[in-house]
Amino acid sequence: MIGGWIGLKIDPDLLAHLSAGRAIALISGTNGKTTTTRLAAAAVSALGRVATNSFGANMPTGHTSALAKAGSTPYAVLEVDEHYLAQVIEATEPHVVALLNLSRDQLDRAKEVAMMAQLWRSALARHPDIRIVANADDPMVVWAATPPAAHDQRIAPPHVTWFSAGQRWHDDSWVCPECGATIQRSGEQWWCTGCPLRRPDPQWTVDDEGVLDPTGAWYKVKLQLPGKVNVGNAATALAVAAEFGVRPFDAVPRLSDVTSVAGRYAQVVRDGRTVRLLLAKNPASWLEAFDMADEAPTLLSINARDPDGLDTSWLFDVDFAPLRGRQVLITGDRAYDLAVRLDVNDVPFQHVRTFDEAVRAVPPGRLEVIANYTAFQDIRAELDRVN
Ligand SMILES: [Zn+2]
Repeated sequence: MIGGWIGLKIDPDLLAHLSAGRAIALISGTNGKTTTTRLAAAAVSALGRVATNSFGANMPTGHTSALAKAGSTPYAVLEVDEHYLAQVIEATEPHVVALLNLSRDQLDRAKEVAMMAQLWRSALARHPDIRIVANADDPMVVWAATPPAAHDQRIAPPHVTWFSAGQRWHDDSWVCPECGATIQRSGEQWWCTGCPLRRPDPQWTVDDEGVLDPTGAWYKVKLQLPGKVNVGNAATALAVAAEFGVRPFDAVPRLSDVTSVAGRYAQVVRDGRTVRLLLAKNPASWLEAFDMADEAPTLLSINARDPDGLDTSWLFDVDFAPLRGRQVLITGDRAYDLAVRLDVNDVPFQHVRTFDEAVRAVPPGRLEVIANYTAFQDIRAELDRVN
């Protein structure tokens, strides 16, 4: 990243120069972008070498250093921080942009969801040639992917491929970004009560343990990553790869090579306990983590250091009820914030001071760990030290 930073100081157009001659996919959204980028890079590698920023360095300095390090490659799949998407589109002239989801994140500094959707929408409207792969289940994403000109019959509509990867979290999309009326939901359908905005029919969907492509063909997707959320991420990756001409038949086997992603989902055995690490940074990703975690003793760890955001009031946006009936342990700098939340939510818990204490407090078998950003890094460092 430092190399990228220095490079951009010397040549502000360096990212554009490094992008020239490559077919590029950008992947953005509040959640799931690191994992989806890894899966999409694996899928596109069916065609040739792929440059990618697989360790979450998702701002222009990270893109610059990832492309420089990879040397010349015909393809690049880049994870992009949602705040930087417009800027990175300008610099890299991507072939395809994937829009995963938008939800509240880091309350003290992130942009409001509707504002972010507006930024995406303007950026994409300036580049009608870009192929868009977008989540039909997220009203904010659908609105961002459909530029205002779509209502004008004289202008060709943008090329959008819709996927359905589900959306557990609805609390940032009850109000229509187009007209301000209420959005209603029934089953997987949603529609605005005041204007034509509604869920488009998705071409790529998730069914059982597999993915249906636009022709209706079903592919079993065997992943080493847990949860239905990741099957959804796989569907997105296959849709992105298809924009480069990769057939699902060739891409699917490559998805199962992806094991852990920057330490996420990694499993470590410690004193007879199989510890699995799940990262959860905001309310939507906590819901997804509950879906991925097995019914097993679960350690929750919360910090509020700079990379996490300093405001923990979002804990009250998460319904922790799915944890009832499991042995729940809490730790981290802000364990007491979590304690108050769990108490109000009627989830019994036990406070532990250290990760070691947590391991000793649970019976041999699986221990699920769900932690936010720096809490996750702390526990990872601890596990690395011993193993
Ligand atoms: Zn509306």
